[in-house]
Amino acid sequence: MQQASGVVQIRKSRYTLLQDENIPPRSRLYDLVPYEIGTNWCESLTGYINRLGWTHLVSPRALVTQEIVPQLDDHLRLITPVSVFGTKWAMSLNGAGAMTKTWIDALSYLTTRTDLHFLTLPWWVGDLSPRWQLRETPAWCPLCLSEWRTKGHPLYQPLLWMIRVVTICPHHRTLLVNRCPHCQKPQLVLVSKTTQPGECTSCARWLGTEANTPSSQGGSGELIAWQEWIWAALKELQAASLTSGMLTWEPFFRYLATHLQEQKGYSKLAQVTGIDRTNLYRWVDDHDTYTPTLETILKFCYVCNVTPLQVMNGQLDSLQQTIERGTELHPPLPRRQNRRVDRERCRTALLTILDGREEALGVYQVAERLGYAACQLRYHFPEECKLVAQRAKDSRKQRKEHYLAQVREQVQQAVISVHAQGIYPSQRKLRTFLPGGFMRMPEAREAWRAALLELGFEL
Ligand SMILES: [Zn+2]
Ligand SMILES: [Zn+2]
Repeated sequence: MQQASGVVQIRKSRYTLLQDENIPPRSRLYDLVPYEIGTNWCESLTGYINRLGWTHLVSPRALVTQEIVPQLDDHLRLITPVSVFGTKWAMSLNGAGAMTKTWIDALSYLTTRTDLHFLTLPWWVGDLSPRWQLRETPAWCPLCLSEWRTKGHPLYQPLLWMIRVVTICPHHRTLLVNRCPHCQKPQLVLVSKTTQPGECTSCARWLGTEANTPSSQGGSGELIAWQEWIWAALKELQAASLTSGMLTWEPFFRYLATHLQEQKGYSKLAQVTGIDRTNLYRWVDDHDTYTPTLETILKFCYVCNVTPLQVMNGQLDSLQQTIERGTELHPPLPRRQNRRVDRERCRTALLTILDGREEALGVYQVAERLGYAACQLRYHFPEECKLVAQRAKDSRKQRKEHYLAQVREQVQQAVISVHAQGIYPSQRKLRTFLPGGFMRMPEAREAWRAALLELGFEL
């Protein structure tokens, strides 16, 4: 925090000097204007952070550690080790992650921009559960990248590409991809090297493709119909968010509950949508604790021929017709196609984890990175998958133990230094030595008790 207050002081003195010349206060970082703000192609927050790094000619990750993290308070700095910034944790910054608001505050302070919240999903799809909204690693449209480069347009990472349910490029009707075509690696969310926009974060080769190459696969008719409907529904939600503020889903469930109870429509809707009737009851009765994912809601609305915003506004005529008709209107939802498994690639991926050359991911994560379903991997490699799962479990346990050891160490040091000053090391006293909120952790309190007992205090 010392560094931050120093920055403020420098800024204040410079401001005083320049005040007479009517020059507005300088921002610490460039106040880059986000791309396409207020449209479906709006930039993502993590894409913006990457671009800030590139514009300052440093690696985005260096910018994060040297400029953004020092702005976070001590407690948040402690729980966000820098090593996880490039992984899926960073992706949650684009959604309703626990840290999103703090990071936006830090970035707003550094850039003096007040519109950065629009680069996150809550300002698009509202206060829905963040579960499964975002992908684990960025996806992109190789055709868009090449087209932008040819036309001299800026290369950036739209928020749309980060949304899990969007699988096709709205411009090109081709599948988005999430692995480098050269090295097959997924992309880091926050770039750690000085690779440039549009380059692979592992091998630095170009991620774009020209049209009509075999890698630019088009989607099936059913898939395109479904995706086109999604774009329209998302566009409608975004427009409503921009005019009336962050959307709340409470009216959606309330109107649905009232309507279904009046019409006794649960059974018919369960039949049409394929959603279990008990689950539908939970949607409407228990939506405080159980909220369906964005994808499930979109599937439900698609089949019922109604948009989420219409349900939120109580416009339920189409839903009523679906209940009366008892059949769906749209073409069926595309089934998730299980691609033919490239056994050699899968085996290599599993073995690199087992021999420790790759981080200890779980089977589900490995499958996602490879672009298959987890059950396909388990079917073809049952033994390897068991070992991978065990390794992931051990690694999680190890990380937790390491973290707890650090907590105990910090508390013990604080107790000893307070005691050495002739002061009783009460929990209240320790709070001034430790990061905010630290002593609320049960492990920290346990470590405090153990340290007091060691010093001969009776509890
Ligand atoms: Zn495209
Ligand atoms: Zn690559």
